[in-house]
Amino acid sequence: MAGTRPEPHRLSAIASFHAHVYYDQDTHREAEELRHWIGERFVVTLGRWHDAPVGPHERAMYQVAFAVEVFPVLVPWLMLNHGRLSVLVHPNTTQPLADHTEYALWIGRPLGIRGEKLLETAEAELPLIPNTTPSLPA
Ligand code: ZN
Repeated sequence: MAGTRPEPHRLSAIASFHAHVYYDQDTHREAEELRHWIGERFVVTLGRWHDAPVGPHERAMYQVAFAVEVFPVLVPWLMLNHGRLSVLVHPNTTQPLADHTEYALWIGRPLGIRGEKLLETAEAELPLIPNTTPSLPA
């Protein structure tokens, strides 16, 4: 019956995840607070602030990179604590365009993604080097 159906993707296709936290002038302080809270609670790699749109991102944002094992704690925590901020959570496979669109999820209000800025296929992401030392429970 399902002769033409493709095989599902394997979870092992996901090397890691990113959460992109978007902000504007009005929400910059909240983004700062959220970043601080994340650093206190989760083993992640906090990326630098991009006050101007970069790559496929239409707004100012910073990136939070995290391992697959961190997803089940960080993502529900972001659901509860993102406030007014929009957050794009996406897997890192070897398909950047799909990662940011078809495979992605939004927490808060969805924003646009400039798909034309993304390659369809790419090399796998390098392993993460976390830069936080959490001391508080989530
Ligand atoms: Zn990303």
